[in-house]
Formats: sequence, structure tokens, C-alpha cells
Amino acid sequence: MPGHERRSAVKFAKDNPDKMIEPILHAVAADHVFDGAAVHESAAVIVHDARIVQVVPQVDVPRTIALQVLPEGAWLAPGFIDLQVNGGGDVLFNDQPTPEGVCTILAAHRKFGTTGLLPTLITDTDEKMRVALHTANAVFGREPGVLGIHLEGPYLSPEKAGIHDARQIRRPAPNDISMLTKPRSGVLLVTLAPEVVPPGFITQLVSAGVCVSLGHSMASCRQTIAAMEEGLRGFTHLFNAMRPLASREPGPIAQALDSTDAWYGLIVDGIHVDPIMLRLALRGIGNPLLVSDAMPPVGGTMSTFTLNGRNIIVQNGRCLTYEGTLAGTVLDMATAVKNCVRLLGVSLPTALRLASANPAKFIGLEHTLGRLLPGYRADLVAFDPSDMTVLATWVAGRANIEL
Ligand SMILES: [Zn+2]
Repeated sequence: MPGHERRSAVKFAKDNPDKMIEPILHAVAADHVFDGAAVHESAAVIVHDARIVQVVPQVDVPRTIALQVLPEGAWLAPGFIDLQVNGGGDVLFNDQPTPEGVCTILAAHRKFGTTGLLPTLITDTDEKMRVALHTANAVFGREPGVLGIHLEGPYLSPEKAGIHDARQIRRPAPNDISMLTKPRSGVLLVTLAPEVVPPGFITQLVSAGVCVSLGHSMASCRQTIAAMEEGLRGFTHLFNAMRPLASREPGPIAQALDSTDAWYGLIVDGIHVDPIMLRLALRGIGNPLLVSDAMPPVGGTMSTFTLNGRNIIVQNGRCLTYEGTLAGTVLDMATAVKNCVRLLGVSLPTALRLASANPAKFIGLEHTLGRLLPGYRADLVAFDPSDMTVLATWVAGRANIEL
């Protein structure tokens, strides 16, 4: 049984009160603990080193274990997992695809409850892709908040380029498969337009463990079905930068909403997609998940930045080019959860699942992340539910704040 030894560690502490308690064993208590499936009132999460031991009623926490009690009314939940993070803390991953750049982005998003993320490279040069892949590989394991990398592009539809640099959008080159399928640490998520890659390309990626997601695409419904037959499961920022729903050509959106094995990222900032469309997405039989699609201003101070040489200004909560094209967001995951409840009318536990359990499952990490179960990594977020203010986070058992 997972966590069995760790339970004995708790017993050990209880049975030997005079023994020095290992500092790595501790508990965090809250009025409401959401374990990813159910809410436990007045409960505590016992953590040993980087792992969760178990969730127990607060009164059952052995007195010998160091206990942090969160302020009244606080919630404790699985940390947020964001699969689309272009930047944060005034850093754009494309500009600083380095371990330092990634650490700045991680720290910026952690303030908003994100404990695991995929730094996301927007369509860029071949060389930049290689550097970004190398960086993610090198940082993985050293920084537990980095779960891998997301390459958004460059195999996209020029018709749906959005903010991506049309000069860099291209079809796969012969040696791209070897670059993308090289043995690696962590998750590799690739957003592509299925209609611009050759038949079999998606199969090759999926066979090598790559998660493939449709995005910036004019794929028809038939082309989408063919891509799913090759193993594509994701839909990047559903509704945005893809063929729209239409009566006789339903396109990828209908296929996503109508497939139990589809996973679609939703940008719930109230700007990118009308809340009515988002509520429609939640009625589909596929699996929604929240993404931020965040840009450098999140957790930073800048109000303008450049992307592929284009100036982006932040205005009324939007990142815009001078022509008015949306260029990512200033959204953070805590706000996305809040918007989900307020704009879409879902319950807080459901919104939390869309921000943790669902993204974990899409990228195949549902056995270690997204739930508060024995043996899972101790990635937690504590927050005030009245306004989703994040009080603290723990990544692999380590808190970012003294409570
Ligand atoms: Zn995009």
C-alpha cells in the first residue's frame, strides 16, 4: 500500500514522544482540505519530506508532529498545474530559455498557487527550440516545479498564426522527429496543426511518449479525427486560434467536445473566450483543464514587452499588439479558478480539479500529482476562498512562506 512506511513514521513519532522529531515530518491543517475528489472539514495533510503521508482529521494529528494551522476559513488543495506558461516575473521563456529564466517564471507563478508548470516556447527558430528543450531537461528534477516543456509551434497553420511569428511557422524538417523523440526527462507537450504535418508524424511523437495537442489550426473535423486516431489528445486554448464551429464543418471544437478522451485547455480570463462558450465547453463529454497562457507581466511589474520583435502592451487586463491582436494573457491560475467559479458557475472543488487533477491526468502524472493521496508529491496550495488570495504553497513538501 502506498505510504505504508510513511504511516509507520507517524506512529514512530507518536510512540516515542521523547525522540527528536524529524523536521521533515510535518502537518498542515485547514478548515477545508480538498484532496482532489472530496472536501474534508477541519483536516490536516501529513507530509513526510517530499511526499504526502495521508489526510487525517485535525484532531488525529499526533501531537509530536510539527503542525501548521492555516487561518480560519482557509482551504488547502492540490497545487495548480499550468500547462501553458509563456512567461512570468517579467521574463519571457522565448527570450530567456535558461535555467535562471525558468526559475524566475516558476517563482512568479508560485505566488498564485502554481506548483507545477510547463514553460512554453512560442514558435521560434530551430536553434531556440533546441536550447529550450535542453534547458527543460537540465532543470527537470532540480526544480520540481518544472514538469517538462511545452512547444507551441512551429508546425502551425499560417491562417491561424495569432501572435506567432509567421516567418518561423513551418512544416516539420526531416530531422525534427529525432530532436523531439530523443530520450528526455519530464513531459514534452507539442501543440501543432495536424493538417500541416505528414501522416504518421503524430504517431511517431506519441509512440515516443510526447503529448500532442491541436492548436493554431484550420483542421477539419475529419482531419481532427484522423489526428486523434494517431494519438492526439489535447486541444490548446480551445476556441482560440482554430477553425470555428460551423453547421456542416464542425471542425476540431466539436470533435473535442464530443470525445471522452479529449483534453482541452481553457483560458478563463473572461476576455479570450466568451463565458457562454466556456460553459458550453464544460457541458462537453471531453475533459476541460485550466491554463493561463501567461505572459511576462504575471507576477512582474512590466506593462510592455516584446515578442518576436513586436511590441506588446498591457491594457485593461489584455496583452495586445498595436494592431489589437491578443498576445497571451496576464492571467494567473488562482484568478482562473476564481473566474471559473464566478463566470462559469461551477463549484469551487470542480474548478480546483480543472486546475490540478485534470492537467495532471492529461500529461500522465495522475499517479503523483493533482491529488492529496498517500505517496503523492506534497504539492499544495493554501488560499482564502473569498477572493482566491494564495496564502502559501508547498512544492515537493517545501513551503514558500513561514506561517
Ligand atoms: Zn496559442
